Amino acid sequence: MIEIKHEGCIQCAGCCSVCPTSALELVGGKIVFYPEKCIKCGNCVRICPANVIELKK
Ligand code: SF4
Ligand code: SF4
Repeated sequence: MIEIKHEGCIQCAGCCSVCPTSALELVGGKIVFYPEKCIKCGNCVRICPANVIELKK
């Protein structure tokens, strides 16, 4: 499970492109997260330039 602080997101879509399971999608200027697809690889956390994604238990 990840948590996104949407207020700080700059909509770069970087997290979407590095997600191996397409669990993140930029829809209408907002990142949508599909928790059932997430394998907790941490790619999105590492790539986010705004540092707004956190990996949770
Ligand atoms: S942790 Fe990995 S699988 Fe989960 S949303 Fe981020 S990039 Fe996708
Ligand atoms: S990588 Fe970070 S700043 Fe870029 S779209 Fe994803 S959450 Fe937003």
